[in-house]
Amino acid sequence: MNIILLGPPGAGKGTQASRLVDERGMIQLSTGDMLRAAVKAGTPTGLKAKAVMEAGELVSDEIVSGIIGEALDDLKPETGVIFDGYPRTAAQAASLDVILSDRKRTLDHVIELEVDEDALVERITGRFTCAKCNEGYHDKFKQPKAAGVCDVCGSAEFKRRPDDNEETVRTRMTEYRAKTAPILPIYEARGLVRRVDGMADIEHVTQAIEAILDS
Ligand code: ADP
Ligand code: ADP
Ligand code: ZN
Repeated sequence: MNIILLGPPGAGKGTQASRLVDERGMIQLSTGDMLRAAVKAGTPTGLKAKAVMEAGELVSDEIVSGIIGEALDDLKPETGVIFDGYPRTAAQAASLDVILSDRKRTLDHVIELEVDEDALVERITGRFTCAKCNEGYHDKFKQPKAAGVCDVCGSAEFKRRPDDNEETVRTRMTEYRAKTAPILPIYEARGLVRRVDGMADIEHVTQAIEAILDS
């Protein structure tokens, strides 16, 4: 099973992908996470991507499609994949078709998380993650069970993304509207798009996605 999670910044793609990984043994391929790892490691890709990401603009199609192809080559053919934050442009959607068919994979669902734009700024500015295991949290909506301690790994160190500020979020939303939302009709024409209410609480969103995967 190969699925795409589509939705604006803060829609809950990463949160839901990691729950599906835990429950279904699928693999999450997040171009955002992979790019942040490249920035941290100071690789040539990271050096190119850093300023673009900090500005909230999109990294080049060649870079992200290259990363996705390489990541898929590391997986067993039977491992299911959740694409989180990719594709984000029509060119990436076209590349993904080739990348998948070259590897004899098919796309099963494109799940769109529908959310109110007004809620996104609050979600993004309250977002933080465990510095050690990357588990996602929120100041208001998903606090660690014990204050200051990661539920998953027990670490007391957390981090916030430099691009998770109100100004950059606005740019990222504009990019989403201009470049990413227009790829939905491509998948709609193929009958792949399923919509989920991303404003429901985290557990209910997961249930709605599970119901689609089981259908
Ligand atoms: P969010 O989870 O808030 O939607 P991501 O972690 O997916 O954000 O992405 C963070 C940044 O990384 C984006 O603003 C963009 O600069 C870059 N990025 C991630 N994925 C892609 C992609 N598929 N195409 C272009 N840029 C990307
Ligand atoms: P994305 O990957 O789409 O950018 P995230 O999964 O990182 O979004 O979620 C953004 C923030 O909102 C995180 O802090 C997360 O804990 C929180 N969040 C995710 N889903 C929900 C939800 N259904 N209700 C409330 N907060 C949520
Ligand atoms: Zn942790």
